Amino acid sequence: MRIGILGGGITGVALQNRLRHESLVLEASEKPGGLCRTYFKDGFGYDIGGHILFSKHQHVNEFVDELLTDNLNRCKRANQILFGGKYVKYPFENDLASLDPEDTYDCLLGYLRNPFSGEVTNLEEWSYSTFGEGISDKYFLPYNAKIWNIAPSELGLDFVERIPKPPMEDVVRSALGIETEGYLHQLYFRYPTRGGAEAMVHALIDDDSEIVCNSAVTSIRRHGEHWHVSSGGEEHEFDHVVVSFPIHDAIKCFENVPEEVQNAIDDLRYNSMRVVLVAVDNESLMDKSAVYIPDPSVVMHRVCYMGFFSQELVRPGTSSLIAEITTNPGDGVHELTDEELTARVIADAERIGILKADDVIVTDVHRVPYAYPVYTLSYRRNIAIVRRYFEELGVDLCGRFAEFEYINSDACLNRAMKLADRLNGQNGAAAA
Ligand SMILES: Cc1cc2nc3c(=O)[nH]c(=O)nc-3n(C[C@H](O)[C@H](O)[C@H](O)COP(=O)(O)OP(=O)(O)OC[C@H]3O[C@@H](n4cnc5c(N)ncnc54)[C@H](O)[C@@H]3O)c2cc1C
Repeated sequence: MRIGILGGGITGVALQNRLRHESLVLEASEKPGGLCRTYFKDGFGYDIGGHILFSKHQHVNEFVDELLTDNLNRCKRANQILFGGKYVKYPFENDLASLDPEDTYDCLLGYLRNPFSGEVTNLEEWSYSTFGEGISDKYFLPYNAKIWNIAPSELGLDFVERIPKPPMEDVVRSALGIETEGYLHQLYFRYPTRGGAEAMVHALIDDDSEIVCNSAVTSIRRHGEHWHVSSGGEEHEFDHVVVSFPIHDAIKCFENVPEEVQNAIDDLRYNSMRVVLVAVDNESLMDKSAVYIPDPSVVMHRVCYMGFFSQELVRPGTSSLIAEITTNPGDGVHELTDEELTARVIADAERIGILKADDVIVTDVHRVPYAYPVYTLSYRRNIAIVRRYFEELGVDLCGRFAEFEYINSDACLNRAMKLADRLNGQNGAAAA
């Protein structure tokens, strides 16, 4: 069986790595890697947003260890939240004693005496019912409004399963200043020593990998038992195809798409992102993995210090951050030029005391069209329609924007491994 893997992000290359069938990856960009790529400018390396490797699946962690062997840092998270001019350890509810006493009081009282009752139907209600008013209004809701670029009341509950609920004991301890840790599943993480997050992608590719770059798929048609795929001016024939690039673009490659399916995809909302690299001529940006910034007057919702992940990503005696900015057309940020946005990031970072504008030595901007699938209230209905359609067509969807799920690279690896296992058990042309 010859399999066409359409899209060469980490999912596509991992699938090829695990398949025993003949396969060809068709990738639109000049290099594989997608959202796991690492960019370099004047000696500063940066990922598309902070990329840490962690998984609740032990076999995925073992696979990562096997792939990266000696190119692996094991790090302990040092995330902070910048709230009211103070650094608070992440997650917020695990460090309430670091707030001003009035804020600590509001958060603790709101958590303990929570008047919320009734059905929880959206993220805002979930926050009030889980954390109470103090934590919700001061941190959780403003931060989520920034990262999702939409009111939390318009977000469904599909994403809350990713958010661990703190035990009451931890919240009370944290308010009293007794050390606690939350989000334990990602307290320790892996990160490549050399090459940034993209090192994972390279580790998945070997001399036998068949990958064609600069080859955007434009058409996917069924011909009897086979699939004909056009990409980069070439025609390819496969027995089976796996779509691993964004569903919004993939659907344009199919003929006679039912209106219901097209409408469902059109209604699946996603956020774009700008990643702004700012390097400074000193080592002040080395001591934290990430800083979360709920303040709505600051353009970025998070900054990550690249030298914390690996010193290979900064020049000696210097340091850098990347600012993550969620954006959509019409929001005022989307329309900014790279120069305007960089100036805004530097000005905001200086205003909140993260760096000094005079120290900046290198900047860069990377535009990410597909960054976050957004779980709006209609997500579940829409995604069910889309999945049913592709299942009936006999086309597998695999990956973050192909499946349109808010999944990290570890889940992408896991799904690629599972799909490879399934396809390895099949012979001959795929049937619908
Ligand atoms: C800001 C941010 C932070 C993140 N942080 C983490 C983290 O800390 N840890 C973690 O594990 N994960 C993290 N992730 C998630 C992780 O990056 C993704 O889950 C993963 O990279 C998705 O891989 P993919 O191959 O499914 O999709 P993609 O990376 O989107 O790959 C799709 C590929 O398809 C290609 N393509 C597009 N159109 C076509 C076409 N027409 N024809 C052919 N090819 C096409 C693209 O060029 C791309 O290479 C983060 C993501 C973001 C945006």
